[in-house]
Amino acid sequence: MSYELANIQLNRACYLLRKSKYILVCGHQRPDGDCIGSMLALKLTLNSLSKRVSCVISDTLPPNLWFLPGIEQIKSGKKKVKKINKFDLIVSLDSSSLERSGLENLKASTSPVLNIDHHQDNSLFGSVNIVKLKASSAAEILYDLLLKFEIEITRDIATCLLCGIFFDTDAFRNPNTTSHTLEITSQLLSKGACVKKIVRYLLQEKSLSTLRLWGKTLARLSENKKLGIISTVLSEEDIKQSEAGGLEGIANYISCLPQAKATLLLSEKDGLIHGNLRTQRDDVDVSKLALLFGGGGHKKAAGFTIPGKLFKTKAGWKVI
Ligand code: AMP
Ligand code: MN
Ligand code: MN
Repeated sequence: MSYELANIQLNRACYLLRKSKYILVCGHQRPDGDCIGSMLALKLTLNSLSKRVSCVISDTLPPNLWFLPGIEQIKSGKKKVKKINKFDLIVSLDSSSLERSGLENLKASTSPVLNIDHHQDNSLFGSVNIVKLKASSAAEILYDLLLKFEIEITRDIATCLLCGIFFDTDAFRNPNTTSHTLEITSQLLSKGACVKKIVRYLLQEKSLSTLRLWGKTLARLSENKKLGIISTVLSEEDIKQSEAGGLEGIANYISCLPQAKATLLLSEKDGLIHGNLRTQRDDVDVSKLALLFGGGGHKKAAGFTIPGKLFKTKAGWKVI
């Protein structure tokens, strides 16, 4: 998108947000630091402009994000949004399609949809789309939008936005970290963003049961030399025995293997198997692999969810 076009979209988004009074903010299934950080930053901003805002997520919230300011105001574990027609605007953050929200009745709304995202498979489903594939995170795009409102970026808003950037860049280690990402980070730090908590809860602190789960995952790594894929599995039973959230942490960690074209973590929950795909190589696009299983994502980090169970056999783990 050219600079002019991007600016027109930002202005249109601003107009929609300004004229709306009751706004629904959604993210994606299996919410992460970018999706939740962005939702909260937008809610805090809109509240300061005297808008009524409802944040709804279809899954439960990972415990490592409970430190975020305002997190208790997110309605989580919902499959449907109550009274969907009372909202005069829907904002979708960090999602390539409305289906990714996991909320079944979003499409029943006739209100405009503002789509703010950075996934390459985004279907441009919004009435206004601010989709920047080069942005590190939805939070980075949101920062540029919030500047247009000429409001004070408070310490809490800054913390939520930095959480999104920090999560999606995997602590500034991913190649999606650009000079613009670091400029915004610098601005957020100067607004008082609580980087200490972000580092502690997103990167450092792990419970004993989480570390044991990591140990199990590492012990099960198996290499498919023909495909160049190194994979591992976690059954529902494994996950139930631990209070670990945020399995993306393990998925990112195992992607350190230099001989792998791609790494894959398969984990099972409620009759569904989620795949976290990662690659460090520039000549591999894991989102294409995820697409084969009905998922999507980015070139270097993608995911999919399929129905099934993981089953241990003598020949190894099987999906049934
Ligand atoms: P994950 O492996 O779940 O951490 O996800 C990596 C990236 O792929 C994130 O940007 C996700 O939003 C995206 N992603 C994960 N699962 C899916 C899915 N089922 N469909 C589309 N995109 C997905
Ligand atoms: Mn996300
Ligand atoms: Mn994101």
